[in-house]
Amino acid sequence: MLRIVDSSFIKSCTKPEHYPTNPFVDIAFAGKSNVGKSSMVNTLVKRKLLAKKSNTPGKTKLINYFQISLKKDDIEETFYLNFVDLPGYGFAKVGKSEKESWRRMIEQYFRERTQLRAVFLLVDIRHKADSKDILMIEMLESMEIPYCLVATKSDKIPKNKIPATLKSLKKQLNSNTDKLFAFSSLNKTGTLPILEWIESEVL
Ligand code: GDP
Repeated sequence: MLRIVDSSFIKSCTKPEHYPTNPFVDIAFAGKSNVGKSSMVNTLVKRKLLAKKSNTPGKTKLINYFQISLKKDDIEETFYLNFVDLPGYGFAKVGKSEKESWRRMIEQYFRERTQLRAVFLLVDIRHKADSKDILMIEMLESMEIPYCLVATKSDKIPKNKIPATLKSLKKQLNSNTDKLFAFSSLNKTGTLPILEWIESEVL
């Protein structure tokens, strides 16, 4: 089994010149503000405050890089990854020019970051598909970037409704992916399947 044994903040970036120069692959986390992105990163690495929670609307948006160390049970070697916390989107209060700069920053990251291996796209399990999420999926699919859909806050719906809800979310979002996960930072649902996916598809 794969375990995350260490994690540390590397840096915040806005453009490619600032991206870290280490040789490790990136796994990026994207989604609307408040979807539970920081909580998910913190839950996966088992630290309460690695990724900061709830960025204030209107504050400068940054791409935050974390270095993650992982071990497999039966192997001495340590593996490394970058977790990349992309700026959240979808604040109603944000003006047109800030939306445009967000879009440019993310598009540039997707286009230029050759080490990008996969994106976890987070959507709230209780919410209907949103045009901004659909736009994000269109961007990922047209750029042929592998991604998983993660339905967050799964503790908010009954367990037996999760499979049908995931299916319906995928349909509403018009997504091609068959990588669907339910996740809860509250009860840790999804942690194991996501680590297993990273072990089999990324490392
Ligand atoms: P971000 O803006 O996407 O980074 O979202 P945060 O991680 O800051 O979470 C936004 C809000 O949702 C906070 O109040 C969290 O406590 C709450 N939250 C995050 N994850 C979960 C979850 O799995 N279950 C529940 N019930 N609440 C969550």
